[in-house]
Amino acid sequence: MREREHDIFVKLLMVGNTGAGKSALLNRFSTGEYSTNIQPTIGIDFRNANMAVGEHRVRCQIWDTAGQERFRSITTSYFGGAMGLLLCYDISCRESFESVGYWARQARDHTGPGPIDIVLVGNKVDLAEAPGSRVVSEEEGRALAASFTPPVRFFETSAKQNLRTEHCFLSVVEDVVERILRDPTRARAAGRSPVRGGGGAAFGLEGSDPSCLTPPSCCTIS
Ligand code: GDP
Repeated sequence: MREREHDIFVKLLMVGNTGAGKSALLNRFSTGEYSTNIQPTIGIDFRNANMAVGEHRVRCQIWDTAGQERFRSITTSYFGGAMGLLLCYDISCRESFESVGYWARQARDHTGPGPIDIVLVGNKVDLAEAPGSRVVSEEEGRALAASFTPPVRFFETSAKQNLRTEHCFLSVVEDVVERILRDPTRARAAGRSPVRGGGGAAFGLEGSDPSCLTPPSCCTIS
């Protein structure tokens, strides 16, 4: 019999306003690279990453959704089955911070029944030193994360400088895996489809939907 190639399947979503840096974060996490030429995402893009969490081989599928309001209907159809959520904003764009609640509500309303693990990500922290660029303080981010029920983890990241990008993805994967392991029924369901790859800490990139369009951005483009 063919050996199962992962024990646990985790579906994560990245949400937040267009321009917050979701694609850059996902790209940094999955390829290790930062590119200023990433086409802003409209529609959906996803990457598969295989990683080890403790003794478990985890297949992680990370969906990058467009933030633009007029594409809400496209985005919401992809919330189903998500187990973890990266709620992203741009520390240099207050509008993106103020939209976090909207995205959290979208997730709550469209992911279906069952718990979801969340991490709040304030991206572009490399801009914090540039005079006048930071418009959302670290304290505000921390307070927002603490205001969730239950409170969620919080990271300030820079896809550009590769600051804490891996931490924010791995922390939410670990939370989801822990939760799955506490519920054996769910663990069996989560690991049901054998896939190629897996093992080690290396990431296996196996999927990306090219059918993405291009929205304008509300946030800093640098
Ligand atoms: P998305 O619409 O949320 O997927 O955002 P993108 O990943 O397309 O990023 C929007 C813009 O912000 C692009 O011009 C990126 O180069 C830029 N960007 C993304 N991450 C960072 C970052 O960490 N620091 C800075 N300074 N710019 C970033």
